[in-house]
Amino acid sequence: MSQQYRITLLPGDGIGPEILSVAVAVLKRVGEQTGIGFQFQEALIGGAAIDATGDPLPAETLDRCRNSDAVLLAAIGGYQWDTLPSHQRPERGLLGLRAGLGLFANLRPAKILPQLIDASTLKREVIEGVDIMVIRELTGGIYFGQPKGIFEHEGEKRGINTMVYAEHEIDRIGRVAFETARKRGKKLCSVDKANVLEVSQLWRDRMTQLASEYSDVELSHMYVDNAAMQLVRYPKQFDTIVTGNLFGDILSDEAAMLTGSIGMLPSASLGSSGPGVFEPVHGSAPDIAGQDKANPIAQVLSAAMMLRYGLNEPEAADRIEQAVQAILDAGYRTGDIMSPGMKAVGCQAMGEALIQALG
Ligand code: NAD
Repeated sequence: MSQQYRITLLPGDGIGPEILSVAVAVLKRVGEQTGIGFQFQEALIGGAAIDATGDPLPAETLDRCRNSDAVLLAAIGGYQWDTLPSHQRPERGLLGLRAGLGLFANLRPAKILPQLIDASTLKREVIEGVDIMVIRELTGGIYFGQPKGIFEHEGEKRGINTMVYAEHEIDRIGRVAFETARKRGKKLCSVDKANVLEVSQLWRDRMTQLASEYSDVELSHMYVDNAAMQLVRYPKQFDTIVTGNLFGDILSDEAAMLTGSIGMLPSASLGSSGPGVFEPVHGSAPDIAGQDKANPIAQVLSAAMMLRYGLNEPEAADRIEQAVQAILDAGYRTGDIMSPGMKAVGCQAMGEALIQALG
């Protein structure tokens, strides 16, 4: 074995365990083929962790993640935990994991695969050739800013959240974005709401300042409401997009839907050092959990991103991505990406087809 990696697996809730077991089987096969050894350890997060320990992110889980080379996460959440107080909800586990590992950059590719053009709700001529990378700031902004909470004020309750960014937070995500754009189409669009929000004005000033260090990258700015429209009107104008936590949460899901299925989209969350977290863009899909209907490809492509961005094993990542292309070319489709004339399969059968395609 040339390399041994310790991988923490976080199956979470809903379809999480089903799709993660497909990704693990794929990783094992690729490991055998490329001489990479994986030491997998599982840990609890989200609703599963709440049920077992009362805490959506038990200390043991965070410790295990910190002591690994990478974290492969499935998804968290479900209706049964929706009524818990906010600090006990499954999402807290995810936010705590990102904060605990210092993961400030979330990379979400939204690339149209030629085999799936017809799965998109948009017209072929609008989406053909779309290849966008959305880079979302992940540990700052309104999800973390203080003060936050629901307080009594003049005889009624008031809910408060605070959108705040410090210069160093903007600069570090800006650098990730410029460097990513440099490796792609050399076009970076920074999305904000600088016409209304002071925090966005600072964001825009810093991005403009940083641009002088990356003269080979063309920087543009766009207001978030316009960006939401442009993404469905003429998505091909975008190469790399960088934006804050709240706007990125929304726009990355919108970009995801251009591709036809949220079940196809991986993501990577990276910090300055230490393990990254690799996970599908979609949630735990409680409506189809346990029915062998989930599309495991987003999870499998997240494993490929883990190899590429987290472990620096591009050859193994290429093999996985090629296997995904091969099974799509062969016509295999889960329900979410099904189109006439294709072979409908469930999650497990899709996994088996992937293993076969790997050879
Ligand atoms: P969702 O992404 O779970 O589901 C949205 C729709 O897409 C559903 O119809 C679902 O069946 C479908 N879908 C999602 N992934 C799929 C896959 N791999 N294959 C086939 N179809 C798929 O979003 P939601 O319904 O808004 O949220 C459900 C739960 O997931 C909530 O508890 C939410 O908080 C949580 N959530 C978690 C994450 C995460 O873990 N990162 C992200 C978003 C939502």
